[in-house]
Amino acid sequence: MDNRVRVLEVRNVTRRFGGLVAVNDMSFDVHEQEVMGLIGPNGSGKTTMMNLISGALRVSGGDIMMDDQLISDMPARHIARAGVARTFQLVRMLPTMTALENVMAGAVFGHKKLWGRALQVHAMRQLERVGMGTSAHLPTSALTYIDQKRVELARALAANPRIILLDEWLAGLNPTELRTGIELIADLRAEGRTIILVEHVMDAIRSLCDRCVVMNTGRKIAEGTPAEVLSDDEVIRAYLGD
Ligand code: ADP
Repeated sequence: MDNRVRVLEVRNVTRRFGGLVAVNDMSFDVHEQEVMGLIGPNGSGKTTMMNLISGALRVSGGDIMMDDQLISDMPARHIARAGVARTFQLVRMLPTMTALENVMAGAVFGHKKLWGRALQVHAMRQLERVGMGTSAHLPTSALTYIDQKRVELARALAANPRIILLDEWLAGLNPTELRTGIELIADLRAEGRTIILVEHVMDAIRSLCDRCVVMNTGRKIAEGTPAEVLSDDEVIRAYLGD
């Protein structure tokens, strides 16, 4: 019997944009302490799927459950409270606010309610966690790109999420930064965080993911370990056709 704890359940989810079916009857589970890679060629529906989970977009059909609670009919802020945190493909932060203030903002909207001094201490701990403790009082606009990404990760962690959605968090990093970034995610994995990783960097997928779901033209075309899906004929064809 499968005794892993299911955190997220996506059941027959579809999303249409006019005549275009961006996500087509997708179903998958994410288990506690698992890093699940959501991969596929450009335009296959990955970002749309992330937006449906976080509530930035509404489903056209199907259900998304979080800890057996229906979240796909909730507004995004309630989904965040239920324990879904995300980072964005392009860093989205309040540039004039300090790193610490940005992370505190993440905690306020998150899963666990904290105020005042406790909030500040908690936010500081998350910054230290990603190696940004000494930059806590700098405005995020003064930080390098990778450091902004670290702060964004700290902000997601600050929400004490049940699941973290990392949408191409490694995109745009140079090779040295990429190694640092992969190590950082590996640390989160070792801590037993539950993560959905949307990623193009194959090295990251191979080294970080326990399991992958592969999308093409809105549909799931494969599911399995990175080694299994990356040697699957249909997956190879989908990528070559990209
Ligand atoms: P991926 O993240 O895998 O690159 P996306 O989810 O961004 O794929 O896009 C899937 C499909 O949905 C693409 O054909 C894209 O053009 C389309 N799409 C995404 N967002 C919108 C939108 N807001 N309006 C119309 N079409 C969209």
